Amino acid sequence: MRLILIGPPGAGKGTQALSLTQTLGVPSISTGDLLREAVREGTALGQQAQAYMDAGELVPDQLVTSMVAERLQRPDCQKGFILDGFPRTIAQAEALASELARHQQRLDGVVSIVVSRAELVERLSGRRVCRECGAMYHERFDPPRTAGVCTRCQGPLYQRSDDNPETVNARLAVYERATAPLLSYYQSQGLLREIDGSGTPEEVFRQIMTVLTTSQSLPRP
Ligand code: ADP
Ligand code: ADP
Ligand code: ZN
Repeated sequence: MRLILIGPPGAGKGTQALSLTQTLGVPSISTGDLLREAVREGTALGQQAQAYMDAGELVPDQLVTSMVAERLQRPDCQKGFILDGFPRTIAQAEALASELARHQQRLDGVVSIVVSRAELVERLSGRRVCRECGAMYHERFDPPRTAGVCTRCQGPLYQRSDDNPETVNARLAVYERATAPLLSYYQSQGLLREIDGSGTPEEVFRQIMTVLTTSQSLPRP
């Protein structure tokens, strides 16, 4: 199963990717996580990416597409993958398409998670992330059992530096300008499946599994 999750910041892509990866048995690849790791480790990529991420802007296509192409080469992607946060521009989508074609592979589907702007802002302002395992929590909507501590792995939770109101606004504008055009791009290829992302994480997950198992063009997971 080769799947893309598209949605604005805060739509729940990371949350759903974690559930899908367990159910479908394929890795989830978050370009945001990979880039934050590169920044933390101070690699050349991290040093180039940091200023863009701090400003809520997109890291240049070239850097991101070569990072993803490398990641897709790893053996765990042989049976498929879930892409969370990539592609984010038409140029990235085209780079992905040629990378897949080079290996005689194709996408099975693109799931677009739709959430109102007010809800996105609320979700992002309360988001907390585990430093150890990357699990997502929300101060109010999905609090950990103990405040500040990951329920799964006991790791410390932190608030992303780009989840502040100004950077959130910039990221939402970038989504509308650069990423939303991908919806018609994938629609025209017959790959797009829209999901109402406003319910609970469990409700959203069930909807995604339903479209994946009922879409004619998609194989059963
Ligand atoms: P979100 O929660 O907004 O979906 P991510 O963790 O996916 O955030 O991304 C955080 C930041 O990393 C983005 O604001 C951007 O600077 C950078 N980034 C992540 N994925 C990409 C991508 N595919 N192309 C360019 N920049 C990216
Ligand atoms: P994205 O990866 O699209 O930026 P996340 O999965 O990180 O989004 O979710 C953003 C925030 O919203 C997190 O704090 C998460 O716990 C919370 N969240 C995710 N899905 C839901 C949902 N269906 N209802 C309420 N809150 C949610
Ligand atoms: Zn954890």
